[in-house]
Amino acid sequence: MELNEVLNNQQLCEVFLCAPQGGMRKSNRTNSLTLISDKTKLYDDRVVGDVYHYTGMGQSGDQKMSGQNLTLAESYQNGVEIHFFEVLTSREYTYRGQVQLAGKPYKTEQKDRNGRQRLVWIFPLRLQNSKATFTTLYKMTDDEPELQEDILIIQQVENMSIEQTEKERLIKSRIGQGKFKKLLIQRECKCALCGVSDSRMLIASHIKPWSISTNEERVDVNNGLLLCPNHDNMFDKKLISFNKDGEIIISTSVDATDRLFMNINSKMRVVLTEKQQSYMEEHYRSLI
Ligand SMILES: [Zn+2]
Repeated sequence: MELNEVLNNQQLCEVFLCAPQGGMRKSNRTNSLTLISDKTKLYDDRVVGDVYHYTGMGQSGDQKMSGQNLTLAESYQNGVEIHFFEVLTSREYTYRGQVQLAGKPYKTEQKDRNGRQRLVWIFPLRLQNSKATFTTLYKMTDDEPELQEDILIIQQVENMSIEQTEKERLIKSRIGQGKFKKLLIQRECKCALCGVSDSRMLIASHIKPWSISTNEERVDVNNGLLLCPNHDNMFDKKLISFNKDGEIIISTSVDATDRLFMNINSKMRVVLTEKQQSYMEEHYRSLI
C-alpha cells in the first residue's frame, strides 16, 4: 500500500482482515494492529514534531491498559505490525504507513463522549520508515503549490494602491479559508484551549501578528494557532499568552468573573511545536 493512499472502510478490512469498526483493530490472521486516528471524532490526537500522540481505546470512563491498548503498549516485544490511518473526512482512511512506539505510553485527562473528564492513555508513535515524518507526509499531499498561490495573492494585493488596513482585510478574506487554515485544522483539529471543533467557527490565528509577518510567515502553519472566536479574541488582544511549556498566562487585567465566562483558567496549557514556541516568545513578552 502506498503512503497517503486513501481507502474506504471495506478496502481497509480486506487488506488487514480486521473488524469493520473501532479505532484500534487487531487481526490475528495478519498479525497486525490497525490504528485509526479519526479527526472527526472526540479524541484529542496531536502531532508534535515527528511524534503522533495517539489516544488509546475506550470512549467513555477511564481508559484501561488492557485489550488493544495493551497490545499496542507491548508492540515492541510482541511482534505485531502496527499500521496507521488518519480520517480527516468522514469515511476516508488515509494510510500513513507502519508505526512504532516512540516512547512509553502515558496518562492524561480528556473529556469523554458525555463531556465528563476522564483518564486516557496516550501512545507516542513514530513512523517506522525513518525517511518519512508525519510532517513530510502532510506536505506530500499537494500543500506546497497552494501555499505558493497564497503568497502570490498576498503579493498581488500588496501591490494595489489601497489603505494598509484594507489590504489586510482583503488578503485575509481571500486566503482565510485557504491552505493555512486547512493545514492547521488537519494538525490541531479543534480550539487549542477548549473543545470547539466546528471548522466554520474556528479561527486560524497568527501567533506573530499578520501585519509584521513576512509573506512566508503569513502562510507558515507553525505561525498558527487554532482557536474558537472567544479564545482567539483574547489571544489577539494579548489578554492571554503561553509560556515555553505551553502553560497559559492570563493578563491580570481580566477579572475572575470574565475568566469564568470566557472559559479560561490558569491550569490550561497547549502543546506547542518548537517552531510555534519561537513565534510565541514575542507574543508572550507583549502580554498586557
Ligand atoms: Zn476555545
